[in-house]
Amino acid sequence: MKNKKINIITLGCSKNIVDSEVLLKQIHAGGFSIVNDQENVRSGTVIINTCGFINDAKEESIDTILRFVKAKQANRISSLYVIGCLSERYKDELRAEIPEVDRYFGVNSMKEILGELGMSLREEMLSDRILTGPPHYAYLKISEGCDRSCAFCAIPAIRGKYVSRPVEEIIEEALILSRKGVRELILIAQDSSYYGLDLYREQKLPGLVHELLNIELFEWIRLHYLYPANFPVDMIPLIRDNPALCSYIEIPIQHISDKMLRLMKRSHSRKETENLLYKLRQEIPGAAIRTTLIAGHPGETEREFNELKEFVSEFKFDRLGVFAYSHEEETYAYNNYKDEIPDEIKKSRVSELMEIQRNISLDLNKTSTGKVFRVIIDRREGDYFIGRTEYDSPEVDQEVLIPAEHNLKQGNFYNIKITQAEEFDLFGIPVL
Ligand code: SF4
Repeated sequence: MKNKKINIITLGCSKNIVDSEVLLKQIHAGGFSIVNDQENVRSGTVIINTCGFINDAKEESIDTILRFVKAKQANRISSLYVIGCLSERYKDELRAEIPEVDRYFGVNSMKEILGELGMSLREEMLSDRILTGPPHYAYLKISEGCDRSCAFCAIPAIRGKYVSRPVEEIIEEALILSRKGVRELILIAQDSSYYGLDLYREQKLPGLVHELLNIELFEWIRLHYLYPANFPVDMIPLIRDNPALCSYIEIPIQHISDKMLRLMKRSHSRKETENLLYKLRQEIPGAAIRTTLIAGHPGETEREFNELKEFVSEFKFDRLGVFAYSHEEETYAYNNYKDEIPDEIKKSRVSELMEIQRNISLDLNKTSTGKVFRVIIDRREGDYFIGRTEYDSPEVDQEVLIPAEHNLKQGNFYNIKITQAEEFDLFGIPVL
């Protein structure tokens, strides 16, 4: 009989976190006890939920698998399974190269994994899960897959076509999360703008968000992954007029030069992108606009890169993430473009953009000094409590540090007066 302890190691994005949490609920219901320890595993069954999006993520996944193969060879764990995007993409290669893993599963194989552990899928529990992060916020996946064909992106090949979850199912899961004590609900998808087009033949994101606001159970509802093309403009008044909806817009544009947007097959032009970004800034004053960019995509000469730098300096995003282009099999770019830009150039372009953003972020943060923000406390770390404003999403954005002498409680909201600003962090003290 297998040692009935389960530990799921989750790598990659917030969608993987949700998948692991749903699986954990099923396995726990099947009689396993849970070990939620991402580092030191001393016994039981380990499942690694991998990421296979870009090179860096793939390397981290393989390193993690090899680390647990060692643990298995040392009899510190009884069985080892690998699931998720890397396993979906490279199952045969992994099986050949790392045969010590008991079994590899793809992304949609919950039934098979449960069967392997001697249990069957409990459909009635699929809207429930065991939260593995801080109990006061949770991600809620509104769809799976993607119907777009961005040249650099392997996600459609890994996760398949866009499948919206029915509104009722999402509301049911939100109610369950609220009963668990979740106060901040973070809506995620590969592409939130597209929500509903497959299932309802119309953009349904505003309608869904409206219903989530109406149940009045969450202090904060946050949106991620809004795609710029046919942006659901009905979201604008919703975000502007509802305090419970974070004044936070995450809208990955990836580049700004028309030539690069064409090569990236992004279906939005420079003009359309700029018009939308300035419209968001104008119609939702004070909103934090976050984007992600890719540096070093095939075709990007100094000219296009300079255009991107100029735009970042000019528009001044509130939050910015930059990735180096990764030449991924099963993508249009891999099959049609050469990966001609050397890695060191890619890396230096990433650093150049982040250096520009560092100065922008410091200037923006300085304007917060003396102001009071509503802050949710995520954790205590050394001499500080660490929290976030509505303008900051967990794991990706900046944080607010409050001296630990102020006895604050994780998951609670406090009014925090900002006393000091750094590039990517704010310091403050509680005020009534
Ligand atoms: S929208 Fe583009 S980048 Fe995002 S998941 Fe879909 S194909 Fe990939």
